[in-house]
Amino acid sequence: MTTFAELGLPTETLSAVESAGYGDPTPIQAQAIPCALEGRDIIGIAQTGTGKTASFTLPMVALLSKGRARARLPRSVVLAPTRELAAQVAENFTLHSFNTKLSMALLIGGVSFKEQLARIENGVDVLIATPGRLLDHFERGKLLLSGVQIMVVDEADRMLDMGFIPDIERIFKLTPFTRQTLFFSATMAPEIERITGEFLSNPVRVEVAPPASTVDKISHEVKQFKPTRKISAFKEKRAILRNLLEELDGKVENAIIFCNRKNDVDILLKSMSKHGIDCGAIHGDLDQSIRTNVLGKFREGRIRYLIASDVAARGLDIPTVSHVFNFDVPTRAEDYVHRTGRTGRAGRSGFALSIATPGDGKLIDAIEDLVGIELPREEIKNPSMRPASGGSAGREDARVEGPSGAAEGKIARASKKPAGVASKKPKKVDRRPAAAREPARDEAVVGMGSHVPAFLLRSIQ
Ligand code: AMP
Repeated sequence: MTTFAELGLPTETLSAVESAGYGDPTPIQAQAIPCALEGRDIIGIAQTGTGKTASFTLPMVALLSKGRARARLPRSVVLAPTRELAAQVAENFTLHSFNTKLSMALLIGGVSFKEQLARIENGVDVLIATPGRLLDHFERGKLLLSGVQIMVVDEADRMLDMGFIPDIERIFKLTPFTRQTLFFSATMAPEIERITGEFLSNPVRVEVAPPASTVDKISHEVKQFKPTRKISAFKEKRAILRNLLEELDGKVENAIIFCNRKNDVDILLKSMSKHGIDCGAIHGDLDQSIRTNVLGKFREGRIRYLIASDVAARGLDIPTVSHVFNFDVPTRAEDYVHRTGRTGRAGRSGFALSIATPGDGKLIDAIEDLVGIELPREEIKNPSMRPASGGSAGREDARVEGPSGAAEGKIARASKKPAGVASKKPKKVDRRPAAAREPARDEAVVGMGSHVPAFLLRSIQ
């Protein structure tokens, strides 16, 4: 086993490693750090959780500690796809350079231009940025990239997903071709190969397996249910999630709940809050101050459930998540690995629960192929399927099928509150025109197929 001392890092960087509490280098660090110290370009194929951030921050600190920054001319640039990831890289830098005089600026959206400009004006050694914000500063003439000696591209595959590749190419062209480039990506899509072929010079390729935790330390489970109807699937899923959280109450220390769409993150947040569940949410459209605040509270244990989209949560270092819930099965199998990689970290065991509907079968097959294990599946009863009771109010929308897919032929009826549970308050009469009223709780929208106007669906539970 290699030690940090054998990687060629200078004494002051080694003492930063020691105070960070790291033991031995991770495989990506053991392979990348010596090559980076030699000035080589690197393609690092590694995911979050492998220690990849330190594999570029440590050699950068070592390489940049000689020399001084000049106004508006950063000596190095690190590009990250999201604000949170950029902020996390900055945290790593602060940790790894605490005993040096290196200066750093973080250029991310949602933070005042003025403060960022003042830093650049003073001269920075390390500029950590999201691509859009970096180009904004460049276009305003406040920043020159002609002094960049080292450029890092982190999570390039995510940059590709987010449409940042043209920005990255532009930034590459604004930096001197003599720069050293450290390029990290979890996967090597053809477009990523093309970029590395064009902008990297004789790179060393280092590749490490995804963090083993995904397979070894995590109990996976898929809870399958069949929605009564397509338009009520979202609402029924929310009820299922609440039931699961209730069932697991004593076991869930904290959890991230992933949705595939930002809009659904918002709706789920409202719904869970309405049910008195302690939660917060992050996604890419939320204001930076809100995201930072929510994330801080979640880290400190002041929020128990974090509802998140993939982009917002990718790479976040939250070491103590006990459970990951996939409210939606991710459409890309590799997102499953990223999501569930939030749990089962640092020697802890973790739990990943996915709620699946029949249409998710192919996605689950793809996940199983990728992670190489079979995900245990359990059919669960749809809480909306209530047993038939007397009366003649059977409705077409209430016909349900059993989890096996075979129609059971039962007619489930919209729930009626048992006597004595009804509110004592006099019923409030909604005097708005019928079309403007929201459907009451548990009341299905009948006869409109999937063409239900949005305002009717606004009743969130
Ligand atoms: P990363 O893959 O860069 O997101 O790192 C994941 C986590 O591993 C972070 O909390 C790092 O602080 C931690 N870490 C990085 N390198 C080491 C190491 N050599 N030993 C122990 N922990 C590490």
